[in-house]
Amino acid sequence: MTAPESQQNAVPRPATTFDDLPLHVTLRQGVREMGYHEPTPIQEGAIPTAVLGRDIIGTAQTGTGKTAAFLLPILERLLDRPRGPIYALVLTPTRELALQAEGFLKKLGRHTRLRGAAVYGGVGMGDQERALRGGAEIVIATPGRLLDHMQRGYVDFRSLRILILDEADRMLDMGFLPDVRRILSRIPRDRQTMLFSATMPPEIVRLSQEFLKDPRIIRVDPTTVAAAGVTHRAYVVSPDRKTDLLIELLRDREMSSVLVFVRTKHRADRLARQLEQRGINASVIHGDRSQSQRVRALEGFRAGHSRLLVATDIAARGVDVEGVSHVVNYDVPREPETYIHRVGRTARAQRRGDAVTLVSREELDEFARVERLLGSEIPRAETPEGMGPGPTQSYQRSTPPSRGIYRGPSAPRLGGNRPHGVGRRPRRY
Ligand code: ADP
Ligand code: MG
Repeated sequence: MTAPESQQNAVPRPATTFDDLPLHVTLRQGVREMGYHEPTPIQEGAIPTAVLGRDIIGTAQTGTGKTAAFLLPILERLLDRPRGPIYALVLTPTRELALQAEGFLKKLGRHTRLRGAAVYGGVGMGDQERALRGGAEIVIATPGRLLDHMQRGYVDFRSLRILILDEADRMLDMGFLPDVRRILSRIPRDRQTMLFSATMPPEIVRLSQEFLKDPRIIRVDPTTVAAAGVTHRAYVVSPDRKTDLLIELLRDREMSSVLVFVRTKHRADRLARQLEQRGINASVIHGDRSQSQRVRALEGFRAGHSRLLVATDIAARGVDVEGVSHVVNYDVPREPETYIHRVGRTARAQRRGDAVTLVSREELDEFARVERLLGSEIPRAETPEGMGPGPTQSYQRSTPPSRGIYRGPSAPRLGGNRPHGVGRRPRRY
């Protein structure tokens, strides 16, 4: 007997298998062929409710199997439907994510008659148009490109019954919201809507009430999941020695497959150039690269041809690469939640991984915000001789260490009562 009533804020109970979940035998076979033995907590929590057609807000850390948590219920609910109409729409923020989800869908749904299509920008419209005109029952799309197709008048959403917003925090932020609203205004209101995300800031939850009916909230605690399997460490380093330090770190053979995050496209290209000059092969993905360049970079990294993949957050968001041994934050992320997204790229599906952050003095405040979000201090490793953050010896005190109490950059301090060096450059005359 399944007991969906008790799924609110589900915390995983003792091991469930896929056989315990309300999934048709053909789907369980697909799952087995993917090599999944037991459902992840979010899958265990979401699937029983989702197959009933209820709206869901599901949060769980990156890399914990949210894609299958919504694809399996979609497939289950559509198993008996005739081919042709579009029944389900998954909106994702990037083309990589759309492609990846479509890949999972193909495998999980292999023993069903249902067909999926990925719809995203940067490639021709023709194949996608054919898919949208009756070649797919499940469409996985980025909003901009989908709207392009919708404006041409051949997309028929009258049969649509299921809508997913993947990476919902991003889909509902300012950048995407207008497009998402436009799409929502043109699909049936009578439908199941599910939001999945690694983080669910309160304003997103508030906003989502516009789109959802009495959603069940299924939350796998991000901090526990982030803590499991990932080892964190940080180096305080001079900003212009970050590349040297990275190269130094790469002497460690354990760093076999390294995902390096930088803040901007420009920095991504610059770092890749610097590495190349030092004889280190790195692939790069960012928003200015063409679709084929990105696919090639990802494939090169997946296949192990390049040991490093340098990525911006947007380009890398949710991209699935197996077996990342280390995540290096070459730059501290602007938003602390991004740190969780990034380190989720290692220790996929609860394996082990390492997260290394290079922190310049200017980034110490932002790094303290990350530590507050994680609820613990990240150990400082010793920076090699000469790569330290610069002449002021008080850098370690420039931000009070997090002790689980909010001491944010904006926390009021009494005037003149700052420790030496805080927020001040030594003056020179
Ligand atoms: P998320 O969307 O939460 O970031 P993904 O759906 O991209 O995570 O899944 C992350 C990785 O975990 C993928 O490689 C996926 O194939 C794998 N995975 C998903 N579910 C399971 C499972 N039940 N058992 C083992 N691996 C899984
Ligand atoms: Mg995902």
